[in-house]
Amino acid sequence: RSRGLGDVYKRQGITFLLSNINFVLVIFMKIQWLGHATFRIETNGKIIYIDPYVLPKNSPLADMILITHDHFDHLDTGKIGEIRKPGTIFLGNEKTVKSFREIMVIGYWETRDFNGIKVTAVPGYNTGKRFHPKGDVSGFILESEGKRIYHAGDTDLIPEMNSLEEIDVALLPIGGTYTMDMEEAVRAALIIRPKIIIPMHYNSLQGLEADPAEFRKMLSENSSIEMETAHPNGIEI
Ligand code: MN
Repeated sequence: RSRGLGDVYKRQGITFLLSNINFVLVIFMKIQWLGHATFRIETNGKIIYIDPYVLPKNSPLADMILITHDHFDHLDTGKIGEIRKPGTIFLGNEKTVKSFREIMVIGYWETRDFNGIKVTAVPGYNTGKRFHPKGDVSGFILESEGKRIYHAGDTDLIPEMNSLEEIDVALLPIGGTYTMDMEEAVRAALIIRPKIIIPMHYNSLQGLEADPAEFRKMLSENSSIEMETAHPNGIEI
């Protein structure tokens, strides 16, 4: 079909907005890793946080907050209080609502569309560890401005990752103990095949020791996937 005014489309990995007959606007989405599993994403004029637990002072207020699971380092009601405003949308799973009643529940593989910002919840869980049983953790795919960002949550490498398609940026835990370690995250990367990986959930709590430089090396030896820390200034894609 032919493109119309306001259409967002992608060519060679670059996102365009057809703004009028004669020129296009290149659209960037900004992704910042704030620490641990906390990300701030600016897209479509909105500010979205995932698992706000590490927050600089005077962080911009949230239009949307995604919570992967109910553990203290992911669902922190004090931190949520610092960035919420009237109208902030909260999304999480059944279990998170027990700790924070304002959360809107989104089940695995369900998608909700908020004026063009689409959020899909996907499974996350441990295999051979007891910390995160299936159902307790949600990963999220955030789709906006023609780009797809995947936040894995606290998970191991799981077969459902085979179903994730056209991910531009994957936010993957590498700290081990409670989640994937670096080696497992490289294997996950080869399945998900994003353009960029931002590692998370490492060096922030005890038992999460990992070396992002080593992770970058392991990735580059096995793939053309790039690693970014997206900290503190973030990346634009
Ligand atoms: Mn955690």
